[in-house]
Amino acid sequence: MRLLLVEDDEMIAESVSGALRRAGYAVDWANDGRAAELSLGNGVYDLVLLDLGLPKRDGIDVLNTYRKNGGAAPVIILTARDAVEERIRGLDAGADDYLIKPFDLDELAARIRALLRRRTGQKQPVYAHGELTLDPAAHDVAKNGVPMPLVPREFALLQALIEEPTRVFTKAELEEKLYGWGEEVGSNTIEVHVHSLRRKIGADQVVTVRGVGYRLKRC
Ligand code: CA
Repeated sequence: MRLLLVEDDEMIAESVSGALRRAGYAVDWANDGRAAELSLGNGVYDLVLLDLGLPKRDGIDVLNTYRKNGGAAPVIILTARDAVEERIRGLDAGADDYLIKPFDLDELAARIRALLRRRTGQKQPVYAHGELTLDPAAHDVAKNGVPMPLVPREFALLQALIEEPTRVFTKAELEEKLYGWGEEVGSNTIEVHVHSLRRKIGADQVVTVRGVGYRLKRC
């Protein structure tokens, strides 16, 4: 899962992005409104965290432009306690949720999980496909109920696949989901992760679609 954090306060940005990376998300950070618009233009994000008081371009303007251009990722706005009108404007401009600063990082993580579920039409907190289950909150994967310990990138890879279990993902799409800016991605990185994931959950679970990419086994 690839998230964009738009926040001009460096300390908040560092603590939030650090916590989310430890939770297994790829996180990019934009520190003003214009950088946010540029980043959102490439369309790779699964979710956006948007501060509203930003240099160069107001967060509400960023959100309006994003939605007007067809940007569909869930957006959580981050606002000050006394800014009720700002929150209302944000929700009316197409935000999906908001958090009041200072917010609890565990609560933020839970709201992110909830919005990501809603985005894929998933009502249950645990994803299930065939013999596999994946619990984003507990970071657990099991096959036929037996826990499968995965490293964070393997987990992120399986999460991407299980969220849309019939879709074929290209290598480029998976790289975008697993890696943020400035992270070194080798030419065979995704193959390596697929290989190690198959070794743990079973080679037949991840199907190679020749010339296209990867998807989960049909069930
Ligand atoms: Ca701010």
